[in-house]
Amino acid sequence: MKIFRQDCLTCYQKITHQNDKLSYEKLEICPECLLHLPWAKNNCYRCGLVTLALDDFRTCEQCRENPPYFDRLFAPFFYQMPIAEMIMQLKFGRCVILAKTLHKLFLNRFAADFKAAQHNVPQMIIPMPLHKKRMRQRGYNQSYALARCFADKSRLNPLFVPVHDRLAWRTKPTIAQSSLDKQDRQKNIKDAFAVSPQIAQYQHVAILDDVVTTGATANALAKVIKVAGVDQVDLWCIARA
Ligand SMILES: [Zn+2]
Ligand SMILES: [Zn+2]
Repeated sequence: MKIFRQDCLTCYQKITHQNDKLSYEKLEICPECLLHLPWAKNNCYRCGLVTLALDDFRTCEQCRENPPYFDRLFAPFFYQMPIAEMIMQLKFGRCVILAKTLHKLFLNRFAADFKAAQHNVPQMIIPMPLHKKRMRQRGYNQSYALARCFADKSRLNPLFVPVHDRLAWRTKPTIAQSSLDKQDRQKNIKDAFAVSPQIAQYQHVAILDDVVTTGATANALAKVIKVAGVDQVDLWCIARA
């Protein structure tokens, strides 16, 4: 039997993989560290926040009273170490290998659910767009780097979803929502996005972002996509803050 070894991204111990494992189970993280990752639990299906009072649809009270435009949030993790560090590196260190690891971790959590048809697979992934100014500074869009892993057509990827990064864009530069109070947040994000009318050919899309903090940015984009005529908009991310 073929085996191969690599170092755990978190504890640097050697990991041994057997060949019969599914590709997304061949993680660059050892089983011990995997167990201790900040896996999201007891959270609302709609907004991703932890809640004790879930109804039959696993929705929190806040979402029942004032639902966001996105229909369902998929986040395998809470925004805690070492996932937070991995996301920071993905954002600023241009570590494309990390995009692959985070993609595999997403599948680790959700591939079985999609396979069991508990959720419909979206027809298209829309990576959270960066404003062109930010794009020039950073040189690449980390959400697009993640999204491309989902669009890998090889048989190693068990959940193929195509990606389109030209259907939505930012119309103005915004500042980090977390640094603003409620009123300024609304102003900051108002009319921040535009979409191509072509997006209306889809009934179901997913916005993909690396981390969802307040949810306001993704909600603003989801609103524009829905107004353009898409019925279902899911929000996929690696971590929910
Ligand atoms: Zn480890
Ligand atoms: Zn909720």
